[in-house]
Amino acid sequence: MSDLQATIAGRLAGIRVRIAAAAARSGRPPEAVRLVAVSKTYPADRVLAAVAAGQFDFGENKVQEGLQKIADATDNRIRWHVIGHLQSNKARKAAEAFHWIHAVDSASLLRKIDEGAVAAGRRPKALVQVDLAGEATKFGAAPDDLPEIFAAAAGCAA
Ligand SMILES: *Cc1c(COP(=O)(O)O)cnc(C)c1O
Repeated sequence: MSDLQATIAGRLAGIRVRIAAAAARSGRPPEAVRLVAVSKTYPADRVLAAVAAGQFDFGENKVQEGLQKIADATDNRIRWHVIGHLQSNKARKAAEAFHWIHAVDSASLLRKIDEGAVAAGRRPKALVQVDLAGEATKFGAAPDDLPEIFAAAAGCAA
């Protein structure tokens, strides 16, 4: 095992212990918590070192950087997540390669994700981000927009 692999495996083991303890405190099984390792700005060899240690979920916040990493770190056990705000002009591309899209904030964004997914024959999962604080600096849908977003979700083909 390389130094890099040993370091990453050791850190992951420590995080898993903390997750298991936190899950136990709230009466949940540890598998109920999914750790998403934020791999943005780190190269593919770090991702693969984490994969070797049993970490399969990775988060990227820039679609272009993520697509390059998906091409470089090929292991079909990996589930790639788009975290943070997704620009609508990146939605189709994101749907072609990522497995989870974390911060859907409009019906139109969701429809673009669906179009990209259908075109690519894929079924990514989408999470809706809601801005409950109503602060101008925060991303996320307003609570009033949720019925429209859920109606769009019901109409998705992918
Ligand atoms: C980078 C990022 C994180 C993780 O932030 P760290 O400071 O690296 O822990 C979480 N969420 C989003 C949306 C991010 O872009």
